[in-house]
Amino acid sequence: AAVLGVMGGGQLGRMFAHAAQAMGYQVAVLEPSRVSPAGQVAEHLIATPYTDPDGLAELARQCVAITTEFENVPADSMAWLGERSFVAPSASCVSIAQDRIAEKRFFVDCAPASSVMPAPHKTIASYADIDAIDDALLPGILKTVRMGYDGKGQVRVRTREDVRAAFDSMGGVACLLEKMLPLAYEVSVLTARGADGQSVVYPIAENVHRDGILFTTTVPGPNVSAACAKQAQDAATAIVAQLGYVGVLCIEFFVLEDGTLVVNEMAPRPHNSGHYTIDACVTSQFAQQVRAMARLPLGEVRQHSPAVMLNILGDAWFEGDGDTLREPAWDRILALPGANLHLYGKDDPRRGRKMGHVTFVAPTLDQASASLRAACAILGIPE
Ligand code: ATP
Ligand code: MG
Ligand code: MG
Repeated sequence: AAVLGVMGGGQLGRMFAHAAQAMGYQVAVLEPSRVSPAGQVAEHLIATPYTDPDGLAELARQCVAITTEFENVPADSMAWLGERSFVAPSASCVSIAQDRIAEKRFFVDCAPASSVMPAPHKTIASYADIDAIDDALLPGILKTVRMGYDGKGQVRVRTREDVRAAFDSMGGVACLLEKMLPLAYEVSVLTARGADGQSVVYPIAENVHRDGILFTTTVPGPNVSAACAKQAQDAATAIVAQLGYVGVLCIEFFVLEDGTLVVNEMAPRPHNSGHYTIDACVTSQFAQQVRAMARLPLGEVRQHSPAVMLNILGDAWFEGDGDTLREPAWDRILALPGANLHLYGKDDPRRGRKMGHVTFVAPTLDQASASLRAACAILGIPE
């Protein structure tokens, strides 16, 4: 069988591997740890650092096409692989998405085509930059330029003194200050673009975050108007076209209290908010990634059932505030109407760690939401 390669061994790689295997491919995973969610299910595991020349050479030799599931994979490694195999998304697209300054600049440059702007922002690389901050940018959020995820690497700031302290706490490296915006709700748009330039856009998803981590995704989103959905989907289509992107890309947006749509960030890979597509759409985001990178026709994105996805964090293994571990009552979750349970094969639960998710599909959103509420009660998650 032909082999598809993936950089990174996390749960996104694991679900990608499942989709690839279902279509008759073998999967090679390059991942530094010997034991990982994707490494456990792949036929080939290359357990080397992301920059190891021998590991990269082996991956390029084995694979007809290579992708990434890890947003912060070194772009140089992707570029090196791209000279030896078909790599999607390209190193240049990945390098924009993993650098908040480059990403913001791209969104601004793209605005004439996408009709959406990012939050007002400023690069903070020195104390002089802090002195020069426009009052209109405060209160704001200081974000690390690289490697931030799940709200890690972010500090909320009200004053210039706060910015100075936060900048120091981040080690004095360049950061991005973003104006704190009055969010009404958050949405994301999943897109896929083939090497032939054809693209597809999934239904818009409404996301609720808790402590900076995605909590639930609901599709169709109860707050999303048809006009907002169209604007976000059109923006996403313009963005992937301008990037010349190949593969699955997810774009996060804010909807402000006055209805303005603001583009937040993009992930050059399948996305947590797209997990509902596994159980609720004709083609899952992972199957779509396989199709795009293998240069096969893209699949239909149609959603066949309303869906609500709940992330299951390691917290569900802990009783109250204690530190004794016990397995959650999966039998009770699976007894709920419309339940589809996905666990990532991680055997060391920690609070705040993504261990799995459950998607409830039902004839109506109300029914799916009722199962979600019941699941929260079973897992000890406050609503
Ligand atoms: P992810 O895990 O999605 O990659 P991240 O760590 O890269 O997250 P962001 O998506 O930039 O971080 O921010 C995390 C959350 O913080 C957002 O989903 C939103 O709820 C809130 N947030 C971020 N920026 C702003 C802003 N400018 N104004 C208001 N809220 C914001
Ligand atoms: Mg992010
Ligand atoms: Mg985000």
